[in-house]
Amino acid sequence: MNMFYGKNVIVTGGSSGIGFAIAKKFAEENANVLIIGRNTEKLDSAVKKIKNATNGRGKVCGYVCDVSNYEDIKKVSYSIVTEVGIPEILINNAGGFTNKIQWEEITDDLWNMSIKTNLLSIFYCTKIFAKYMKEKCIKGSIVNIGSSSALQIKNDKMHYTITKSGVHTMTKILALDLAKYGIRVNAVAPGPTLTEKVKSRFEDKGLLEQEQERINKIPLKRYALPEEIAEAVVFLASDKASFITGVILPVDGGYTIG
Ligand code: NDP
Repeated sequence: MNMFYGKNVIVTGGSSGIGFAIAKKFAEENANVLIIGRNTEKLDSAVKKIKNATNGRGKVCGYVCDVSNYEDIKKVSYSIVTEVGIPEILINNAGGFTNKIQWEEITDDLWNMSIKTNLLSIFYCTKIFAKYMKEKCIKGSIVNIGSSSALQIKNDKMHYTITKSGVHTMTKILALDLAKYGIRVNAVAPGPTLTEKVKSRFEDKGLLEQEQERINKIPLKRYALPEEIAEAVVFLASDKASFITGVILPVDGGYTIG
């Protein structure tokens, strides 16, 4: 498929987990992939792996940046735009979750980290990159990564659930506003996904029980693979979804059906 040939795609948090699978998928589809992460070593290794896997079709570049810091993103956005060009596609994937925690135990630090990493990062990146798209009349596409946690409310991880609910609401508000410029905004809400980080929880006996309990509640009786989340993201970003905007697409094996 050459649908993405020559297109510039930013993937925040593309150095591991779901973001890595998304970045790799876009590279396989011949896009220029610009990966953002905080850790230089992780970024370099991700860029290398993707280049090797795709045989250098499009450009694959890594940019060190904390997406919860507005000034940091502004600087990096300038480098991206001058070195590669204005992105047609922005994937707001960077985010962080924590283990289960009772709401009374949530500290101010945890609230602030969650709001900054999961919510403000999307606000900042969209504000900066949508401005470039609007100025150059680019009918771009933005895909945010939400979570099934915000579709099936539980009384744990309140800080995470609330910020992901915010991501879903922000997606709809941005879709409404940016539609007049031809820019589409959608979200994918993954269910539990088998990333390296999640896999390591299976090695922790204390957490293994929690994970097993969750699998039992998924109608398809397994976790998603990061590649399955990536397929949905790439679809929403593509012209195949040209009349879809403001949608929150669950990719969760039926986890949030009822
Ligand atoms: P990982 O921890 O595996 O990857 C997170 C990525 O985000 C890393 O590349 C990390 O890079 C980057 N990142 C985190 N914070 C920042 C920041 N402030 N600035 C720049 N980069 C940052 O997570 P997952 O792949 O599991 O999660 C990806 C997204 O999917 C998140 O939004 C998460 O909430 C969501 N999700 C995940 C589910 C799951 O089961 N895995 C389920 C539902 C939703 P670095 O280490 O360099 O900072």
